[in-house]
Amino acid sequence: MDEFALIHQYFAGLSAPRSDVRLGIGDDCALLLPSADEQLAVSTDTLIAGRHFPLETAAYDIGWKAVAVNLSDLAAMGARPQWFTLALSLPEVAEPWLADFAAGLAACATAHDIALVGGDTTRGALSITITVMGSVPICERGFLRSGAKPGDLIAVTGSLGDAALALARLVARAEEQPQDKALRTRLDRPSPRCALALALRGLVHAAVDISDGLAGDLGHVLHASGVGALLRAEALPRSAAFVALATADRVLPLMLQGGDDYELCLCIAPEDIASAQGIAAAQGTALTVIGEIQPELGLRLEVEGRVQALSTTGYQHF
Ligand code: ADP
Ligand code: MG
Repeated sequence: MDEFALIHQYFAGLSAPRSDVRLGIGDDCALLLPSADEQLAVSTDTLIAGRHFPLETAAYDIGWKAVAVNLSDLAAMGARPQWFTLALSLPEVAEPWLADFAAGLAACATAHDIALVGGDTTRGALSITITVMGSVPICERGFLRSGAKPGDLIAVTGSLGDAALALARLVARAEEQPQDKALRTRLDRPSPRCALALALRGLVHAAVDISDGLAGDLGHVLHASGVGALLRAEALPRSAAFVALATADRVLPLMLQGGDDYELCLCIAPEDIASAQGIAAAQGTALTVIGEIQPELGLRLEVEGRVQALSTTGYQHF
C-alpha cells in the first residue's frame, strides 16, 4: 500500500465533517474558517513509543491517547476544540495496526467533535505528533497559568495517581488484580475535560492540565502567577481502584508526582466554587478542593496537621 492509498484509506474519512472546514485532507493545505469573534488556540504534543506509552499498548489506545492528551491542553486553556493535524512516523505499514490506530483516533475525535484536517506520513520509529486547534472568545483571555490570586481555592477534576499506578504496576509486572482494568483505562484512555472547561468559562482564574504530576504542573501556575500554595494531603481525590492497589508509602508520591492523569487543576475564587462544583456534578465529574493559593511563594503540603515544603519538579525529559 503506497503512502497516498494509506492516507485515503485510514485518515481521509476519519472524522465527521464540520462546517468550519472549507477544505480538509488532500491538498497542500487545509482551509479552515475561524470565526471573527474568536482567537485561535493552538497546541502540539508528540507521543513516542516506549516513552509516552508502554510498547505493548494496543494500537486503538495509542490513537485515543494521542488525541486525548492534545485535547487536554485545549481544555486547560478553556478553548473549544475544532481541528487537528496528525504527523505520523511508522516503521512499516501494518494494516491491522493502522486500522485499530485510526479507530482509536476516530473515537476520541468524534467524542469531542474535532476534525482531522491534514498531516504528514513518513517512515521511521513509531511517533505520533498531533497539533490541535480550537478557539477562545476574543473578549476573554482563556484560562492562563498566570491568573491565580491569593485566596483562590485549588480544585482538581476526577482523581489523581491512577495512570501512574497503572504504569508502575505494569513495569513491576505486579500480579493482575480486578481493579487493574480500571487503572489501565485511566492510563490508556484519558478523558480530556473539554466540555467541563467550556462550562466553567468565566469562573476560572488559572488552570493547567496534569500531564507531568500535580506538584510540577501546579508549580507552573504558581511560578507564572507569582504566588504560592498549600495543599491538603487528605483532600487529594483518589479512585476506588487506586485506594485498593496503592501501597501506603506510594499514595502521596503517585498522586503528587505521577504523570498522565490529564485532569484539570483549576484556581477558582471561593465565592464561585459552589457554582463550579454544581456544573461539574451535572456533567458527572468530581471537582474536589485540594488547597488554596497563598501570597507566600512555594508549594506546601499539610499531612496530618503538619505542613512540609513540596518540590515542584515534575517529569522532565532533559
Ligand atoms: P505534501 O507533499 O503537499 O506535504 P502530503 O503528500 O504529505 O502532501 O499529504 C497529502 C495530503 O494528505 C495533505 O492534505 C496532507 O495534509 C494529508 N495527510 C498526509 N498524512 C496525513 C495523516 N497522517 N493524517 C491526515 N492527513 C494526512
Ligand atoms: Mg507533507
